[in-house]
Amino acid sequence: MNNSASPPLTLRDKFGRPMRDLRISVMDKCNFRCPYCMPAEIFGADYDFLPNHQLLSDDELIRLAHLFAELGVTKLRITGGEPLIRPNLEKIIAAWAEIPTIDDIAMTTNGYFLKPVVQRLKDAGLHRITVSLDSLDETVFSTMNGAKSSVSRVLEAIEASQAAGFDNMKVNCVVKRGVNDHTIVDLARYFKSRNVIVRYIEYMDVGNLNGWRLDDVVTAEDIFKRIDAELPLEPVPPNYRGEVANRYRYLDGENEIGIVASVTKPFCGDCTRVRLSAAGEYYTCLFGTNQLDLRTPLRDGTSDQGLKEIIAGVWSQRVDRYSELRTSFTRLPRKGAEMYRLGG
Ligand code: SAM
Ligand code: SF4
Ligand code: SF4
Repeated sequence: MNNSASPPLTLRDKFGRPMRDLRISVMDKCNFRCPYCMPAEIFGADYDFLPNHQLLSDDELIRLAHLFAELGVTKLRITGGEPLIRPNLEKIIAAWAEIPTIDDIAMTTNGYFLKPVVQRLKDAGLHRITVSLDSLDETVFSTMNGAKSSVSRVLEAIEASQAAGFDNMKVNCVVKRGVNDHTIVDLARYFKSRNVIVRYIEYMDVGNLNGWRLDDVVTAEDIFKRIDAELPLEPVPPNYRGEVANRYRYLDGENEIGIVASVTKPFCGDCTRVRLSAAGEYYTCLFGTNQLDLRTPLRDGTSDQGLKEIIAGVWSQRVDRYSELRTSFTRLPRKGAEMYRLGG
């Protein structure tokens, strides 16, 4: 393994996009049953999640992050399933934090297990946390997560994170028509004065199990209008090229929000994201149908150089732009992976 800070290769895909952000699903399992991701009627008590030996081991996760970093990745996002179900996460984060060219390690979590471990995650080298919270209304939140948590538990986790030194907290809110869309302004109002950026996400047609319908999507434009009507907003330029959320600042300057228009305003042109499932499948698109198994070569003795050639070979042939091809809001026929495997 090469630990030196040699400059990453400028690996590009067929549209000239570099590989920069690696989203690693460290666990396929989750303690929530959000109907838009893991509907309870499909993911029941007897659902066949991966046995432990099929998950990438700690060492394999660490080794792969090194290799991706050598190919140009500078940001890691830890996700799942629920990442905090993964044992030894602090140890893995601490090892990733030692990779010289990784400048950002973030995590997306449902917040349920966060409060008691958040200080240790900070100390291990985690930079940023996004907590998913779809509503402040207990009944609505319960519907959105499959009746597995409470608003107060998640709010306490966010406060504990801020107390531990995470001063750049974000909240993800998936907006589903007729379920939580009447509560999005309350969410904005609550976090506006608490230094937490809410990112509203258009409900996406990821996977095949959530029964996605266009009618359930509240468009980014509609989300903007509803919030702007009560808490006036103005657009802000992106922090960096390829930023997923469109940014809007409150006119009083107190805070900002983000809106992720993945359905209505695709952003494939700048997409530098690559994904690794908990089983070691490598995906070059959230909607990708062609995953490549990295676990087998990892376990059959393939060298670091050999693994990098496999990863780079796939990226250099990449032509993914699913969201741009999904025209007129029409779902394209495909058999993509589920969100809980790819982690968003
Ligand atoms: N369990 C963690 C959580 O919920 O934060 C991490 C994994 S979850 C798959 C990552 C993000 O994807 C969450 O913010 C979740 O709300 C979002 N998500 C899941 N299914 C979605 C869908 N169909 N459309 C849009 N966002 C979705
Ligand atoms: Fe679990 Fe996150 Fe999916 Fe909800 S969105 S079921 S918390 S993985
Ligand atoms: Fe990137 Fe695929 Fe999403 Fe387009 S559809 S932004 S290529 S992950």
